[in-house]
Amino acid sequence: MFIEKDSHNRSQGWIEVICGSMFSGKTEELIRRLKRAKIAKLKVEIFKPGVDTRYSDEDVVSHNATALHSIPVESANEILFYATDVDVIGIDEAQFLDDELPNVCSQLANQGVRVIIAGLDMDFLGHPFGPMPKLMAIAEDVTKVHAICVRCGSQAQFSHRIIAGEKLVLLGETESYEPLCRACYLKAREEKLFSSALDNNQDGVNQDLNI
Ligand code: ZN
Repeated sequence: MFIEKDSHNRSQGWIEVICGSMFSGKTEELIRRLKRAKIAKLKVEIFKPGVDTRYSDEDVVSHNATALHSIPVESANEILFYATDVDVIGIDEAQFLDDELPNVCSQLANQGVRVIIAGLDMDFLGHPFGPMPKLMAIAEDVTKVHAICVRCGSQAQFSHRIIAGEKLVLLGETESYEPLCRACYLKAREEKLFSSALDNNQDGVNQDLNI
């Protein structure tokens, strides 16, 4: 469980990152921290990329439907425009924002703002996602949360995409992704390669037969 620093010294800023796979509870943890900051009467602003319109345009909503009002932004620099006279800033789905985000977060933390970032650490191919690796490097505190592997019940850190297609910006509905542990993820990737090889073979046979 993450315990907040004593925030009596409000001239001191810092960066916290909450990262993990789909369904790992990142947004719930972000909302929990932001709600506690509000209880402490700190001024809180929440941002999310404009691309994330899963459930609602202006709310940060987790899969279990706790919501906080947020400002959609198209670029990281826009956050600086809105973030005046605040104590705490939350950023959800940070993986979709541009490479300026680490600079923006550093700038805010240097000015005394507590910056809390939530995002996917890896895309569905298992590669580090967008600005997240840099954010994790510059943060004072990194919390990695885990989902449960839907195939074996272990801790899951991979977001395995179930449907075909190349676009990274498909968002976390249950029918599109499943959280898997490393062993089950590797197995699923192998199965996918095997079935696409079979499809290609079938195409070849069809071509030979002119069908
Ligand atoms: Zn597993």
